[in-house]
Amino acid sequence: MAFQAPKGVSEYVPPRSALFEEAREAFATSARRACYAYVETAVFEDTALFVRGVGESSDVVTREMYSFEDRGGREITLRPEFTAGVLRSVLEHNLHKGALPVKVWTQGAVFRYERPQAGRYRQFYQFDLEAIGTEDPAVDAETIALGWDAYASLGLRQYTLLVNSLGDKTCRPVYREALQKFLRGLDLDGPTRQRIELNPLRVLDDKRPEVRGQLANAPVMADYLCAECKAHHDAVRNLLNALEIPFTDAPHLVRGLDYYTRTTYEFDHALLGAQSGIGGGGRYDGLSEDIGGPPLPGIGFAVGLDRIVLAIESERTGASAQPGTGCQVFGVPLGEDTHADVLTLITALRRAGVRADMSFGTRGLKGAMKAADRSGAAFAALVGEQERRHGTVRMRDLADGEQYDVPATDAAAWLIERLGTHR
Ligand code: AMP
Repeated sequence: MAFQAPKGVSEYVPPRSALFEEAREAFATSARRACYAYVETAVFEDTALFVRGVGESSDVVTREMYSFEDRGGREITLRPEFTAGVLRSVLEHNLHKGALPVKVWTQGAVFRYERPQAGRYRQFYQFDLEAIGTEDPAVDAETIALGWDAYASLGLRQYTLLVNSLGDKTCRPVYREALQKFLRGLDLDGPTRQRIELNPLRVLDDKRPEVRGQLANAPVMADYLCAECKAHHDAVRNLLNALEIPFTDAPHLVRGLDYYTRTTYEFDHALLGAQSGIGGGGRYDGLSEDIGGPPLPGIGFAVGLDRIVLAIESERTGASAQPGTGCQVFGVPLGEDTHADVLTLITALRRAGVRADMSFGTRGLKGAMKAADRSGAAFAALVGEQERRHGTVRMRDLADGEQYDVPATDAAAWLIERLGTHR
């Protein structure tokens, strides 16, 4: 049997890959507009970075990492998330010694050993954005606004924003204890009881109805925030209101990675069923110190590009690629010996900025015209013996069949003018 990709690997091939590119570009555009710079960082890291950064008690670290020993005996892990690696890279390259905040974005494959299902994969793709080096609540709001606007620019409507604060090292321990006290009094199974002692906030994230039902009266972090954290949280909420970004206070919102402090948020999509999280992030003011760096606050978010593709497909009728990526003109050689003429023509068109392809091989006129139709191009550019002699190209409008004989030297200008009205 032919090989298949390993279980849980998410892949994109045409035509669906056009939606993936579109999703990625929407977030990249949003980030560039807010003056975030691109970084490309390690796909694998020292395992210890994630153990210390993401947290020893998180599901991601305890159960989901792709870890192995390399040939040199080093403990290596494929990145299960971006933040720890991006921060490691910022520190290693001393970006934090320049102007603050350091604002960067990246994107790429992320690896988690999860149970694959719709919208949940083992190799999936994230867009990630981080602002490192300021506690200013305005930067919290900036990251949220950026995410919000990027989803909107894709035409998505059915998403919501949940916001919470997880406090800091002053107030969270007090809350943690109050929560543990409450949780110990509930009727819960063994593993959940263990979790109360290790990572009680994660119990709030339990999706099982029998657990959820008992959590209604659990103490909430909002009631335990210290004065500084409360002021920060209020400032973020006021800024979101000023930016006209609707949000819901979600006092039980906790996130899967242990490094979060203060602001945490999540974007959910209404039509994606169980895997509704299309992005999430928050502050990680202690992370730099956790991984051996100086005190350096930070905030960022990651969005699941796979889930955004699913969201687009669920909302957009006739989900198809955005304008600006498909083939515009398709060269058709009439007869055997005009391939070189056609390749010369479409190379000139490409150099002039037109997206051009041609019929390769020997498939005959009928086959070549079928290929032209399939390509989605607006025009076929036919070149035969006669055109070669006259120095012309026969342009065929593939929508209505009209044909135009155009001097080859004018072909690019002619097409650019027409294509303006086609797309
Ligand atoms: P996280 O890094 O856990 O905060 O996740 C950020 C976003 O990545 C989520 O909101 C999802 O959109 C996406 N995501 C997380 N895990 C997966 C997965 N296993 N498969 C696909 N997307 C995922």
